[in-house]
Amino acid sequence: MNESVRDVVVVGGGPAGLAAACAYGRAGFATTLIDRRAAPEPARDETLVFAFTSATRDRLIDLGLWADVMEDVWPISGVNLQDAISCRAHVFRARCGRAGLLYSIGYGELRRRLTKLAASFPTVECIHGRRLAALPLDGTARRVVLDDGYALRTQLVIGADGRRSTVRELAGLSSRATDFAETALTFTVAGRSLAPDTAIERLTPNGPISIVPLGGCRFAVAWIDSTARSQRRRTSTPARLLAELAGALDLDSDHDLELVSKITAQKLSVANADRYVAPRLVLIGDAAHGGHPIPVQGAHMAVADVHELTTLRRVDRSRFASAETLACFQRSRRLANAARLGLVDVLNRMFPPSVAPLAFALPGPDADADRRPALSLGAHVSP
Ligand SMILES: Cc1cc2nc3c(=O)[nH]c(=O)nc-3n(C[C@H](O)[C@H](O)[C@H](O)COP(=O)(O)OP(=O)(O)OC[C@H]3O[C@@H](n4cnc5c(N)ncnc54)[C@H](O)[C@@H]3O)c2cc1C
Repeated sequence: MNESVRDVVVVGGGPAGLAAACAYGRAGFATTLIDRRAAPEPARDETLVFAFTSATRDRLIDLGLWADVMEDVWPISGVNLQDAISCRAHVFRARCGRAGLLYSIGYGELRRRLTKLAASFPTVECIHGRRLAALPLDGTARRVVLDDGYALRTQLVIGADGRRSTVRELAGLSSRATDFAETALTFTVAGRSLAPDTAIERLTPNGPISIVPLGGCRFAVAWIDSTARSQRRRTSTPARLLAELAGALDLDSDHDLELVSKITAQKLSVANADRYVAPRLVLIGDAAHGGHPIPVQGAHMAVADVHELTTLRRVDRSRFASAETLACFQRSRRLANAARLGLVDVLNRMFPPSVAPLAFALPGPDADADRRPALSLGAHVSP
């Protein structure tokens, strides 16, 4: 049977896989992206939202993805870091000349925009609605066999198929996971009781709450708490959920927040694959590593993976899939990710929320107005 021959096959059409397909497609590589889900439609009720930092923005610019995909996204000019336990808080503002300190975009909208961009490159083909079935090594190439028997030959398989990665499993790459006792609820609210240009990171005795403005008075909420409390909130009425949220954020009782999306729950864990590479194969994004949504920021790590992989490829194009190039990628990214994931794990074990290190890093409620907190995030700080 004739097989399609491609330079790169990306399995997984989430942020990591799509960014990789766009980067290789822009460079003229014959690239196929395979995703088991249908091609994304315009997203209406986003429950998962990314707030990209300036560092991730710079990487996306370097990859040539910012202007096409993110140019008109909502800039967030400040982050209000609040410690509800010690009643300390500080607002970090974007440096002069920067529109935002963070840039927010919903998962569905990001996926839709990246899919459209990937499909605009003449060397990229996107296959939706089909799953990976087998990945045998065949001489110096990999065969990629889909569930309907369709097969491709490629020099490089990029496994970007998320935390339960089939690519990782078929390649025999093991992964270590640590489960946390908390669950994250994510949903979107609308209203004028919150500032549309400022994100909130609030540390409560039960866990952090993150509020990310999405534009148009909509806000993405990620609320981390014990699994029991999260499950109870998920099944309570919207009015009760919003009353609890307003209480946890110290909003007035006459707040105007309304729930405008479904609620999703995700049990938290951190995981890191023992190896990211095998012959003619590399893992990126959540397939390689996954973590706690607020401090670890999986999308940032995914963009950093793609940036590193394609920067190495730019150094020596003829060897983009060689064992040396892949080993070099693994050395730099696995170490960086392990350090980040390890820190979250250690902090989680050492500090219950009520003694979180944040409490010591911010000035107290009656501190001098111009005293600077120990944390600076590379931004201007206002009391
Ligand atoms: C509650 C919650 C909140 C979060 N908040 C943030 C945040 O604020 N900021 C942030 O940066 N990160 C956040 N994250 C993490 C972030 O969602 C992930 O790190 C990110 O989505 C990883 O992208 P990915 O492309 O690697 O994987 P995914 O987004 O999981 O995409 C994997 C893709 O692979 C496809 N696929 C899977 N198996 C197959 C197969 N066998 N064949 C073909 N296709 C397949 C799937 O359909 C999917 O499209 C959060 C996560 C959670 C759970």
